[in-house]
Amino acid sequence: MLFLLDSHCDAPLMLAKGADFGRRVEQGCTPGRFPITQVDFKRMKKGGVNGSFFAIYTSNALSPDQATRRAFELVSKVYDAVEQNGDQVALTTTPAQARRNARSGLISIFMGMENGAPIQRDLSLLRMFNRLGVTYMTLTHAGSNEICDSCTSPAPRWGGLSPFGREVVAEMNRLGMLIDVSHISDDSFWDVLQYSKAPVVATHSCCRALCDHPRNMTDKMIVALAEKGGVIQINFYPSFLDKSYASQASQLIDEQEEAQDAWLQDPADPALQQRMQAAMDALNAVPRPSYKRIVDHIDHVVRLVGFRHVGLGSDFDGIEACPEGLEDISKMQRIIIELRKRGYTEYEIRHIAGGNFLRVMEQVQHTTL
Ligand SMILES: [Zn+2]
Repeated sequence: MLFLLDSHCDAPLMLAKGADFGRRVEQGCTPGRFPITQVDFKRMKKGGVNGSFFAIYTSNALSPDQATRRAFELVSKVYDAVEQNGDQVALTTTPAQARRNARSGLISIFMGMENGAPIQRDLSLLRMFNRLGVTYMTLTHAGSNEICDSCTSPAPRWGGLSPFGREVVAEMNRLGMLIDVSHISDDSFWDVLQYSKAPVVATHSCCRALCDHPRNMTDKMIVALAEKGGVIQINFYPSFLDKSYASQASQLIDEQEEAQDAWLQDPADPALQQRMQAAMDALNAVPRPSYKRIVDHIDHVVRLVGFRHVGLGSDFDGIEACPEGLEDISKMQRIIIELRKRGYTEYEIRHIAGGNFLRVMEQVQHTTL
């Protein structure tokens, strides 16, 4: 059976803003609406998505206590959304449970933590989040934290993993938690590969050979990740898929972010609504790469290391633009159709669509040290 899995989306951010995922979340720059919305349970169903990792994301700008509080808040929002829609989705922590859910027509909602800041310098907090159902952790986000440096850290703090970061890696191995290397610096990546006793994953990263961006992985990194048994899940963000889009859009993305922050302060203000709409229109006017570009990145990984080490990690609800033709989660089947067109067998497609990630997850959970 094909299990279509998205290993990373930022849906909890929308839940925290009050989105009701049991209904289609409406778009718009007015109070109670959402200027950008790419995920809800109805659209997941339409897209034939069987499982999705909801990211418990915290910004590196928060203080340690703020980060911990925010993470617990987002976990609570995910629990609430799942409880309110128990006829459609189920909170899930293992591949076996996910496959059972799929057989009974339920979408599996997993939780991954994006940025280890909420565990502060306390492995007990890591264990607590794991007990609550967080099954992977992206070690950091846009800056250095207590664990390691980011690929976008303005100034590296550790030159890779910190001494505490090594303890985190060992404890995650012991607990059977997946270590996510997306966002971390190249030096941190090589340290993680050295110290982790289990395979690791990149839950939402693309190939640097096709789009030179520090968030993407070099061929050498992809080969090493695969040799360790891991998997790279291709991100749908146009700026990571395509260099020319990134250069054309970067300033408009900043402007859109500023307009959104201003609008969120007072969603009822017509001037702020207008500014938000204008910023989005300007950004949408930049030609976006086709969703087929995602499959180009998949092809590249397959050529490098074979079909057993690649999958999909959309980053939906965390990205202000989507590829042309894949504007939200309801269109996920287009990737499957494109893979078929390019000659992938059903067996290979099952692996890419979700089988690879679930295999690594199963392996990591069963080889707890
Ligand atoms: Zn991310």
